[in-house]
Amino acid sequence: MLQSVPKEDSYKQKGMRRQLVQHLREKGITDERVLAAIEAVPRHFFLDPAFENQAYEDRAFPITAGQTISQPYTVAFQTQQLELKKFDKVLEIGTGSAYQACVLGELGVTLYTIERQRALYDYVGKFFFLNRYPNIKRFYGDGFEGLPTYAPFDKILITCGAPFMPPKLIQQLKPGGIMVVPVGEDGKQKMIRVRKDAAGNVTQEEMGDFSFVPMLTGKNN
Ligand code: SAH
Repeated sequence: MLQSVPKEDSYKQKGMRRQLVQHLREKGITDERVLAAIEAVPRHFFLDPAFENQAYEDRAFPITAGQTISQPYTVAFQTQQLELKKFDKVLEIGTGSAYQACVLGELGVTLYTIERQRALYDYVGKFFFLNRYPNIKRFYGDGFEGLPTYAPFDKILITCGAPFMPPKLIQQLKPGGIMVVPVGEDGKQKMIRVRKDAAGNVTQEEMGDFSFVPMLTGKNN
């Protein structure tokens, strides 16, 4: 349950977080800024009390509205592939629990994040920890549409499984920009890194197999 009142971050939990970071290093995450951001964000704040003890295991967990908080390795991997710079303007599709959003917030980017489930959008709005990140702006909407009013973006991150490469999001990427998107259906996705060069040409690299909840069209009240 995301709470409106601050929760405690104990020495024990900080210690488990350091171990998680060590584990991510061993799994191949090398970007020190990403590792520092994972160490800074108390993941147990984002989970129901029933799962709090497992918050620093490297696995996904159910949150509200049938959705999940991504696995720490997946969050670290996607974040690393974005090659973020401070003050980058970043669009995230799938706010979910806002864990990934806070990791990005910790990196000093300006984040625009969209969630299509009203219940989840409202639920996250009450979460005390978000007050720490004035650089995170949340939107209720359909990620397939992106945010034309705020485009273009330096980086775009999709945190749900896209059935195809969303064309409007490619349009909303700046020349020189990077988009990281898991593409595929039935919980089986290939991570794709899209680069748009200065001339606007787009190239794609495949970065391995992952599993995400689906990216769905339209909003859900
Ligand atoms: N980044 C999240 C991951 C949540 S799971 C976290 O760190 O917890 C993916 C989320 O994408 C779900 O909350 C789901 O509702 C949302 N989603 C799926 N399709 C979407 C769409 N078209 N637009 C916006 N959000 C979408």
